[in-house]
Amino acid sequence: MPAPLETFAARLARAHDATSAAGLDALLLTPSPDLRYLLGIGGESHERLTCLVVPAEGDPALVVPALERPGLDGTPVLGLGVEIVEWTDGDDPYALVAAVLPKSGSAAAQVAVGDAMPAVHVLGLRAALPDCAQELASTVLAQLRMRKDRAEIAALDAAGQAIDRVHARMGEWLRVGRTEAQVGADVAAAIVAEGHTMAAFIIVGSGPNGASPHHDVSDRVVQPGDLVVVDIGGPTPEGYYSDCTRTYSMGEPAYPEVVNCYALLQAAQQAAVAAVAPGITAQSVDDAARSPIRDAGYGHRFIHRTGHGIGLEVHEQPYIVAGNDLVLDQGMAFSIEPGIYIPGRWGARIEDIVVVEDYGARRLNHRPRELAVLPV
Ligand code: ZN
Ligand code: ZN
Ligand code: ZN
Repeated sequence: MPAPLETFAARLARAHDATSAAGLDALLLTPSPDLRYLLGIGGESHERLTCLVVPAEGDPALVVPALERPGLDGTPVLGLGVEIVEWTDGDDPYALVAAVLPKSGSAAAQVAVGDAMPAVHVLGLRAALPDCAQELASTVLAQLRMRKDRAEIAALDAAGQAIDRVHARMGEWLRVGRTEAQVGADVAAAIVAEGHTMAAFIIVGSGPNGASPHHDVSDRVVQPGDLVVVDIGGPTPEGYYSDCTRTYSMGEPAYPEVVNCYALLQAAQQAAVAAVAPGITAQSVDDAARSPIRDAGYGHRFIHRTGHGIGLEVHEQPYIVAGNDLVLDQGMAFSIEPGIYIPGRWGARIEDIVVVEDYGARRLNHRPRELAVLPV
């Protein structure tokens, strides 16, 4: 269900307030999850400039190629009081952005540009506003996007349930004698069948491939005794992502150290989830996951941060990582995903998405976290 118009109007108003509070002249955003968040329109930025201008003073404007204008019909944009500024091929769209800035462009001193805006547009805007400093829009927008409202949390909840249903069926596809790629193709179809618009990522890391945390799939044939790391997710129709990892064992694990290490991993994941509460820093949650693994002598085998925020992007703020003193607040959603990786042998990871409630973390994934032993 698309968010109601009032939701976007409120977000746009908050973005406007945050822009002026930050002392910026304007926020400049090309198609991206930021734009989807503020205007409810999707799409990707390409060589023709589409740019939302949220000025510190005055009403927002959307500079848009004439051929993209019909695509706005039926979207929330037209009900939000956003001035539509069309341009046709041959015009200079960057000059149009400068012209809609409140201080007639040339006087603007500081703008924020979308974090993933293509360089061709960043530099085009710089040329049109040569005396204007640029900074990242996340300095303004992350504080808004991190705190999910009820509808966003409901969408993340639905995404979590959908990916749980895929993991629940893993034994149908993950079998000795099949390649990771064959397993991955079946999983991809199930991800869509269970309510996602696409399978955004599929990691099936069997045996030694599991030791590469961002392994994809390969032609390796799954063997008896393998551990298999399955990390999967995708967006629901609302655009909110699932992301869940479970580790499977094809019969009894080939390496005896797996049993103790996996118990350690489970304890670490539980400790990090238990550490989550409003007022706690992101880095203290990372430390809660890391310290039991470190104490057992496997600290150097946990080679990534504990987690990442999730929403309209798979990876967004807040990052659950050492050095991040961001204070967690209600409505923030992120992964808790410690892993242990033994090069050449095996890897294991447990990943759930959690949302911060007043009492602490609420998990959005509910599949059992024990090592899932599949029959061989
Ligand atoms: Zn990852
Ligand atoms: Zn994941
Ligand atoms: Zn993740």
